[in-house]
Amino acid sequence: MSYKEIEVTCPTCSLVKVIKVPMRIFSQKKFGTIKIQVPQGGVCKEHQFIVFVDTKGIVRGYDRIDLLMKTVAEREDKRKKFSMKHFINLYGLYGVFCLIHAKIFNYPIYIIRDKESEDFSYVINKIGEKLLPEAYRGTSNVSFFDETDYNKIKLNDKNAFLMDTHQNILQTPWEEKLKFEEEMIRKALDIFDEEEQVNLIQQSISKLVREAEYVKRVLEKVKEIYDEDLVDRIARELMIPKPNYYRISLIKDFIKQRYSPKLAAKIKSKVEEFLNLL
Ligand SMILES: [Zn+2]
Repeated sequence: MSYKEIEVTCPTCSLVKVIKVPMRIFSQKKFGTIKIQVPQGGVCKEHQFIVFVDTKGIVRGYDRIDLLMKTVAEREDKRKKFSMKHFINLYGLYGVFCLIHAKIFNYPIYIIRDKESEDFSYVINKIGEKLLPEAYRGTSNVSFFDETDYNKIKLNDKNAFLMDTHQNILQTPWEEKLKFEEEMIRKALDIFDEEEQVNLIQQSISKLVREAEYVKRVLEKVKEIYDEDLVDRIARELMIPKPNYYRISLIKDFIKQRYSPKLAAKIKSKVEEFLNLL
């Protein structure tokens, strides 16, 4: 396999190192900017981050991942159990944020694999099964491309998520940073017990879904509603602390992706309206 050498600077401590990236991900012209995950130890000892690289191999930007992985040995019987550690080892931390995001918000998932490995599909099937509430399982389809020539891949779906089994991310259909997923995984990894890690993530997702289902019922009965009024209603009705605006945007996105874009559009924002006037 031929490689392209790319000089990468850690966005946190500025250490510079040349990393080798398989040539074939640059030979494609379809997917534009590629996100390459640099693990802890890849460039410097402490930090992990994402490098945005264009199809010519030029670095276009960086994104930090402020999450430290504890080095806990993986269980031997990993095939029988689904663990976050194993999931992260296969897809990388940011890959895991993306895959969970795609699962929750129902984006089709495509994975390019160049080697026969049941592990990748096993783990992917398990996330849908283990992390999502029962009513939402079996959605957001996962498809695999058995291909080494990235130019031959036909992906007409701009709304799909695409990555390869070498942890390179080729297409993300969303703009936002994955703060919800990062926070959820950060908390889970603080727990030592692997089953509890999975349970905690499942609970965080269920909570969001419960809020979205409530908001869906509200939206079905109104013509429109302001986000600030929604915040009050959610807190009152579900007896939880007032959700912040980021949370509301997650709920809105969930409704748009899972139920109906029309319904989601009923949530209005005074701040947005004000900005549109300017
Ligand atoms: Zn660093």
